[in-house]
Amino acid sequence: MKYLNWIFIYIILLFNANSKEINIITTYQYMANIVENIGGDRVKVTALANSKWNPHTIVPKPSFIAKMRTADLLIINGAQLEIGWLPQLIRQANNPKIQFESVGFLDLSKFVSLIEIPKEVSRALGDVHPEGNPHYYLDYMNIFPIAEAIKNKLIELYPENQEYFLDNFNRFKNKLNEKIKIWETNLIKLKGTKVIEYHKIFDYFIKRCEMSLAGTLEPLPGIPPSSRHIKEVEKLINQENIKFILQDVYNPDDAAKYLSKKYNIKLLILPHDVGATNDAYDIFSLFDSIIDRLTND
Ligand SMILES: [Zn+2]
Repeated sequence: MKYLNWIFIYIILLFNANSKEINIITTYQYMANIVENIGGDRVKVTALANSKWNPHTIVPKPSFIAKMRTADLLIINGAQLEIGWLPQLIRQANNPKIQFESVGFLDLSKFVSLIEIPKEVSRALGDVHPEGNPHYYLDYMNIFPIAEAIKNKLIELYPENQEYFLDNFNRFKNKLNEKIKIWETNLIKLKGTKVIEYHKIFDYFIKRCEMSLAGTLEPLPGIPPSSRHIKEVEKLINQENIKFILQDVYNPDDAAKYLSKKYNIKLLILPHDVGATNDAYDIFSLFDSIIDRLTND
């Protein structure tokens, strides 16, 4: 009987230990991977959105609220990328730790410079980028300030782990620097290359490697291509030397396929997040696989 009591006490202790775990929720997969790199085995991180879905229009599952109820820290992309699905979940989860002004809430868009900030907000036209382009993490140079913000937040919340988080952060930063050297050598040949993309999702990447964006298949971010707009794009294709059409994994690709076939332009399906394609399994291989697809021809 005494033996059974000990087992019982042991189980209770085990449950208590687990409940003290640092519980982090991120909205997208790429941030979860950066958190894993810095938080290591001292944190448990869960990303809400499946990276095969359109990041603007995630359909929440009931399990999202349950996960958010026990979270110590919520990390978001911000710049309105989650505006259509996250605010009501935060309200419903009713967890004081992760409300907008709480210490356990981190908006990564505050640590980078956004591009394409419109002079006037044009949501009436259906634009899903009213505050500027929210897909900033696809510039690999923006991974530095993002990772630093995550490191600083973890240290602020759990100062007892400062040395551990700092070591992991420095290791992550060194690896990123090494990878960037390789990426930039491979990217030289893309300078000046003209591309068309479906949604304005790869703009930061295009800018970083000095490619040139000639046009988009969506007339406005979030508005599907109309036949009238596609005719405009065809005019553009006739005037410019377009090398690639860039398509994400979740939007319909019929317009891109049609133009690719008609004008003999290479269509590339690129991952936009960790897990969007099988070879993009972490933040480093996300950029590896984008760059491989653009440079392997
Ligand atoms: Zn977008």
